[in-house]
Amino acid sequence: MNQVNISDLGNYAGEEVTVKGWVYKTRSIGKIWFVILRDGTGLVQCVVVKEETDDETFNLEPILTQESSVIITGTVREEARSVGGFELGVKSIQIIQVSEEYPISPKEHGTDFLMNHRHLWLRSKLQHAILRVRHQVIKASRDFFDQNGFILVDSPIFTANAAEGTTSLFEVGYFDRSAYLTQSGQLYQEAGAMAFGKVYCFGPTFRAEKSKTRRHLTEFWMIEPEIAFCDLEQDMDWAEKYVSYIVQWCLEHCKTDLETLDRDVSTLEKVVTPFPRITYDDAVEILKKNGVDFEYGGDFGGTDETVISEQFDRPVMIHRWPAEIKAFYMKRDAENDNLAMGVDMLAPEGHGEIVGGGQREDDHDTLVRRIKEHGLPMEPFQWYLDLRKYGSVPHAGFGLGIERTVAWITGIRHIRETIPFPRTLTRLEP
Ligand code: ATP
Ligand code: MN
Repeated sequence: MNQVNISDLGNYAGEEVTVKGWVYKTRSIGKIWFVILRDGTGLVQCVVVKEETDDETFNLEPILTQESSVIITGTVREEARSVGGFELGVKSIQIIQVSEEYPISPKEHGTDFLMNHRHLWLRSKLQHAILRVRHQVIKASRDFFDQNGFILVDSPIFTANAAEGTTSLFEVGYFDRSAYLTQSGQLYQEAGAMAFGKVYCFGPTFRAEKSKTRRHLTEFWMIEPEIAFCDLEQDMDWAEKYVSYIVQWCLEHCKTDLETLDRDVSTLEKVVTPFPRITYDDAVEILKKNGVDFEYGGDFGGTDETVISEQFDRPVMIHRWPAEIKAFYMKRDAENDNLAMGVDMLAPEGHGEIVGGGQREDDHDTLVRRIKEHGLPMEPFQWYLDLRKYGSVPHAGFGLGIERTVAWITGIRHIRETIPFPRTLTRLEP
């Protein structure tokens, strides 16, 4: 007996196969009834006809409640009107478990209710499609860096130093002292870049984000490449090459899921290199021209980002930021010491910042001065300063947030649906 995935049914036309899964829906029209079965790889309509099956199987219709688990054997038939283009002519159905009063019915539920049932909501069509895209975004990311000669160097999750201040850090007990959950693997990636040339890390990061926005999680996944002998321009080259790779990969490999999500892919098709590059000053000009009341020197808020990104049909990179609002480790512009060589990439269609990065300060004494200027303790940075003592070179990198990228590619407005079990200011369960 051929046990097959629903997504592969097309290879078995005319053959008898067995599929294992869960009842999505049933529908009866008297002498014929239908089960829509899902198995995690897709949906298939299974047709039960009185003459083609035994009485026991035919009488199961009222028993097969939503999400009951079953094993169905039948013949694969081409059926253009059916989901996936094939249906199953049922020979027999074996019940594994009858599901009792599944709480998520086809009727509309509020997001809070659905989030409380996140462990079950994952089975729903749209959620399922979003998380399959997430899987492909992560796969494309790993493939991209692996194919371009980067080495995976994992950064630790427990950290002792609070590189950019402690306000957004989660403090945890660590034996007889305390530690922080990482909010970025960057400093460790800099050590990695000096050891391997091109490196990246991929893991969860934690930020005690107290603002309730649709773009912030307290636990999110970030991929962070770091490259030795790399300046800001080359850093932007890598960022645009990487982001366009992810998008093109998803267009090719997530067709069905993007269709399920009703995503307009024409805007994604435009995401090819080169991406526009503008300075912070240019971005402020754009805001002024569009009548936005913005004070020079600050960071862009969500609506500012939307106004800026709407001027372009692909992601835009904003570089050379006021140094005061950027981290201590950012290199300054040789032509204007007030500007930091940082770069943010904004996704189109109002999805906001997806990448933050830049060139790092590589001079030892300058870095010491910056640490002092930022009022940070020197002691925890001794190892980091070592990197500027033993063969320091220009280097740069960036971090891309997986969930924001998935939100953009899937067209989902709220980031909480782009991760299996979201953690936010108000949500720690399930
Ligand atoms: P924002 O200003 O939007 O809070 P940030 O400047 O704090 O972002 P970075 O520190 O540059 O962001 O982090 C790099 C990337 O990580 C961001 O471009 C974004 O994609 C992602 N990111 C940052 N904070 C969060 C968060 N709280 N939830 C989800 N993704 C995040
Ligand atoms: Mn932030």
